[in-house]
This record gives sequence, structure tokens and C-alpha cells, in this order.
Amino acid sequence: MMNKRNMEMKRRTWRSSPWRVHSFEISVSLLRLFLWIVLGVVLLATPAVSLLGFDQQKLFGLLIFGICFNIFAQISIHFTAQGSVPYRMATKGGIIFGYIATLWLIQATGAEESPFFPLTYLLVLHGAIYWRYLGSVMLTLAIFVGYTLLLAADGYAFSGASLLRYIIQIILLLTMLFFGMNLAIRERGHRDEKSLYREQMNHDYLTNLYNHRHFQDQLQQRIDRQHPFCLVLADIDHFKKINDTYGHLTGDRILKAIAAILLDKLPPNRGGVFRYGGEEFAILLDLSTKTSVQKFVGDVIDELNQKTFHVDGVDLKVTMSFGIERYHAEDEKDQLILRADNLLYSAKKKGRNQALFSERFDE
Ligand code: GH3
Ligand code: MG
Ligand code: MG
Repeated sequence: MMNKRNMEMKRRTWRSSPWRVHSFEISVSLLRLFLWIVLGVVLLATPAVSLLGFDQQKLFGLLIFGICFNIFAQISIHFTAQGSVPYRMATKGGIIFGYIATLWLIQATGAEESPFFPLTYLLVLHGAIYWRYLGSVMLTLAIFVGYTLLLAADGYAFSGASLLRYIIQIILLLTMLFFGMNLAIRERGHRDEKSLYREQMNHDYLTNLYNHRHFQDQLQQRIDRQHPFCLVLADIDHFKKINDTYGHLTGDRILKAIAAILLDKLPPNRGGVFRYGGEEFAILLDLSTKTSVQKFVGDVIDELNQKTFHVDGVDLKVTMSFGIERYHAEDEKDQLILRADNLLYSAKKKGRNQALFSERFDE
């Protein structure tokens, strides 16, 4: 059964996933396709074009151009890999298509008289979202040049009232650029802040390991997935004595050094190291055989036994004890933690500086 916390985790993962970006691209491309279908219907099935005195031939040309691009975009977005050249041409390159189509539409619908000039505002906003500052400035410049050339080719009189009208249009375009850039700056700021908060939410300040909250989430995710994995609970031996003898700051430095050793010995992409709390660590290992887990724990124990910590001018030897349990289908989260904790407790009772494996490894 999925609880509320899991749902929230899934939502969080979704928000930051490439699938979310992909589904955004799908919705943009479908919206564009829809607009093109509307244009086609208006052109072919209504008298609107002749009523408004628009250039029917140019509009048909534009319709064909749009249909070709939309077919290309749908195929690229649905059937090529995210990040491939056709995919990027269909998504980021969609702005260039939008640029050509917008100027084409303005020209076909009366140039300076065109009611579609505000579409250039949309284009600038779209450019600011995708291309940020320099890109949106270049795009605005391209619209300005394109539109001016288009008017010049149409014999537009850049004088008197016409000039004033033209200047107003350009000022509004620049205003849109200003707003678009502001939006892009704010959006980037929010994104950076969000990733910083996410990072802080999951990490322990002192050791920079993942924290207890993330441990609980990751453990639950593994249980939901039902893939084999092991839980190691590790505790520093007689840590209180270190604090009492050398002070808490020295203790903190030892904690950081131990965290670095655990991370160093963890096989790449095979799980995570977490600060469970205090001087206790949890390690989730996506390994199922006893030998592979033994290798990790043995490496840590060997390293600690060989190592002398030089902290704040003193030389220290530090050992740790470990309790290791293997996940069984049907295990509940708390049950699994309790089983590993009991093994850790037994390792302490047996004299510390050792690892105790569950009997499940021998089944
Ligand atoms: P054992 O071998 O049985 O685990 O003995 P221990 O002394 O390690 O265990 P105990 O639970 O008695 O003491 C744990 C100590 O860890 C007490 C606490 O002050 C210290 N501790 C917990 N968190 C921190 C921390 O963030 N920094 C420092 N310096 N000490 C911490
Ligand atoms: Mg301890
Ligand atoms: Mg402890």
C-alpha cells in the first residue's frame, strides 16, 4: 500500500525528472499542432480569409510549411531520443520555426495592418524561457530586423503617423523583451533555490552524507521495488570517550573522516551511505551475496584498523561495529531496521570492532 510520504517522494522525483521536460515538450508541440489545425479549418472551411482581405496564396504556403514542420516535430518528439539532434530541432528549434511562421503570417495578413503582430510578444516570451538572456535579445533583434524589412518590402512609409505607429510597435516589443528576461532571471533564481533546498533537505550538515529523512525514503523505495538489498547499521565504538577526552570538535572531525571512509569504500552505484543519527550510520547496499557485502564491511574494518587519525594534534585509533541484515520480501521498514539494530547490539556485546551478519545470509 502506498502511503502519503511515498506519494510525495514520487511527486518530487517526477518534478525533477526528464520525463517532466519531455511531457512539457509534448504539450507545446500538441498545442502548436492544434493551432495549425485551426488555421487549416479557417482557411479551407470559412470565408474569413476573403472577408478580411488576407493573401490566400501566402496563407496556403504557410499552412503547408506548418504541416511539414508539425509532422517532423511529432515524429522527432515521439520517436527519437531526448537530446538527439532531431529532438532539439523540434523543440528548441521550434522557436526558429515560430519566427518564420509569425513573420510569414504578418505578411500574409496585411503587414502593418496585421492583427497578428502581438504574436511576436509570445515569440519573445518563448525565446526567453528557452534561450534566456542573450538568446532572447538576439531573437528580438531578429524580429525587429525581419519586421522592418517586411514593411520596407511592402512599401511602408516610415514617416509621419506611420512612423509613430511603427515606433510604438517596436517599443512594445522591447517591453516584452524586458518582461521576458525578468521572467527568465526569476525562473532561474527559483530553480537554483529549489535545488539548494532539495540538497539541504536530504543532507546532513556535519558530514554532508545523506540524512536520516533521506534514509527512510530510500529504504521505503527499495522495499516498494522489492529488489534484493542489504541494510548495514554501523556505530562508532566508545565514541563518548573521544568526546569526553578531546572535546566535541575533535569528535566532529572524526565523524567527518569516518563518513569519508564509508563513502570511499562503497562500491559505485551500489547504494548509499546515510547518517542515521549521532555516531551511527546506515548503509543501503544493492548487493545480495554475503561475499560482496563482506568485502565492503571488511574493507572498512581493515581501513580503520590500519589507520591512525591525526586530529587536532592528537593521534587516535577508532573502531566501529556493524549489524547487517538482508531484505526479505514482506519485511516492513521498521522490522528490518530493528533486525539490523539487534545484530549491531550483539556485535557490541561480543567485543566491538566487528560485523555480525544475519542468519538469512546462510539460507
Ligand atoms: P558504544 O561503543 O557502545 O557505541 O559507545 P559510545 O560511547 O559510542 O556510545 P554512546 O551512545 O554512549 O555515546 C555516543 C556519543 O556520541 C554521545 C554523543 O555525545 C556523541 N555524539 C552524537 N552526535 C555527535 C556529534 O554530532 N558530534 C559529536 N562530537 N559527538 C556526537
Ligand atoms: Mg557508539
Ligand atoms: Mg550509538
